[in-house]
Amino acid sequence: MCLSMIVTLPQAKQIDAALIAEKSSTDEIKAYKEKRLFGRTPRYLFIASGVGNCACDLLTDNADWDAETWDIIPSYLPHISSVISNLYQHLSEGFLFEALWAGDSPTVRKEVSIAEMVQIIQNNKIETKTTYQVTSADGEKLGGLAGQAFRPAR
Ligand SMILES: [Zn+2]
Repeated sequence: MCLSMIVTLPQAKQIDAALIAEKSSTDEIKAYKEKRLFGRTPRYLFIASGVGNCACDLLTDNADWDAETWDIIPSYLPHISSVISNLYQHLSEGFLFEALWAGDSPTVRKEVSIAEMVQIIQNNKIETKTTYQVTSADGEKLGGLAGQAFRPAR
C-alpha cells in the first residue's frame, strides 16, 4: 500500500509532461511523469521524494489514511508547496491535485486558487480524500478536467 501525490494534467500539457516535471522539481522533491507506456500520453504527474511514485516517506509515523488530513513531515512542506507553485508556472490553465492512499477514491472536490493550495500545503492540511481543483489565474473553471476524477492506473 502506498501514498501517491497526483497531479492531473490539462489536455494541452500532457505532451510536455516530462519537461514540466523536470522544471518543476526541487532537489528534495521531484515531480515524475506517469509511468504508463504503450504509447499513451501521460495524464498524470506524481510528486515524491526520490524513488518511483511512492510518497510514503514524506509521511510521519503518525500519518493515518483514516484521518481527515495527511500528517506530512514538516520539513518537506516548503518543498512540496514549491513544486506545486513551480507546476503552476507551466500549468496556469489549472490542474487537479490529490494525495491518495492506494485504493482510495476521492470523495470531496474543492476548487482552490494556487495561493489557497499553497496555504493548505504549508499548513499541513492536505486532505486524505479530496480532489483539489486548482483554478486558473483568471478564476475560470478548468473545462477539460472539471468532470474528471482520478482512477488509479492498473
Ligand atoms: Zn509507498
